[in-house]
Amino acid sequence: MADKLAGVIGCPVSHSLSPKLHGFWLKEYGIDGEYIAKEVAPEALGDFIRRLPESGWRGCNITLPHKEAALEILNSGSINAEVDNVAQEVGAVNTIVVKENGKLWATNTDVYGFTENIRSHITKKNKAVVLGAGGAAQAVWYSLLGLEFSEIIVANRTHAKVSKLKGKHYTIHLWEDRSTVLKDADLLVNATSLGMTGKDPLDIDLSLLPKHALVTDIVYTPLMTELLKNAKARGNPVVDGLGMLLYQAVPGFAAWFGQTPEVTDALRHHILRQ
Ligand code: NAP
Repeated sequence: MADKLAGVIGCPVSHSLSPKLHGFWLKEYGIDGEYIAKEVAPEALGDFIRRLPESGWRGCNITLPHKEAALEILNSGSINAEVDNVAQEVGAVNTIVVKENGKLWATNTDVYGFTENIRSHITKKNKAVVLGAGGAAQAVWYSLLGLEFSEIIVANRTHAKVSKLKGKHYTIHLWEDRSTVLKDADLLVNATSLGMTGKDPLDIDLSLLPKHALVTDIVYTPLMTELLKNAKARGNPVVDGLGMLLYQAVPGFAAWFGQTPEVTDALRHHILRQ
């Protein structure tokens, strides 16, 4: 076993790009470490998390379908664990670190990943429009609060999932309004799974979207979604979703392997290579 061990758990987990991503950095920085993928069934999740301190792992990433359940387990009081505010607010955990005293520390780095992917591309922060209310969308909403957008508009097909947000920092619209709410927007985020390979296309009319507005998609297969292609063709700046995946891995790698890694073009090319 390598000196430093971490990994990703999910069910299934074989599709995860995280071993390729962390493996690149381990090699890049010459670290004697290993990052593996382990399938953990839902009924075994509690035991896995409880036994992490004596497992030899320095921590783990958590992927579908365990992110919400992991939060519940870590919050249950039966485990010596601390969950940070970001994970509590988002309602999901995707990164756990085993501290030196054996205590678990948990967070949600999708917020960091989304924020860092778009931060340098934002020019105005008045109005953001987010499509979606799934697990990833919750990280996007929280990220936009942190970026201090004045108005965050959310539209989702299942209205009940977003109606609870109303009156806090968000304005809620019906899914049918997704094209009309683009007027005066500075940012459009697709946080649904629409446009992903094998899923339905995202049907949206961009004609009211100002040309300066940044358009980003958290879907990264394909890298250039139809939304990004259409936005780019009419002159909007665009950012693809791969960067979110790469940046969300940074805090975990730094905590487990003692080196803050960089998101570079070489890493992007490595991940995109089959
Ligand atoms: P999820 O929890 O299943 O949520 C799916 C979202 O898409 C919901 O808002 C859902 O609306 C909406 N949706 C699905 N089919 C729809 C349709 N036909 N019409 C309208 N809306 C529809 O999924 P997730 O975990 O949030 O992931 C969403 C996407 O983000 C996936 O493609 C995933 O691969 C990607 N992702 C990327 C990153 C990254 O690092 N770039 C990270 C996480 C996820 P309802 O609520 O009405 O069902």
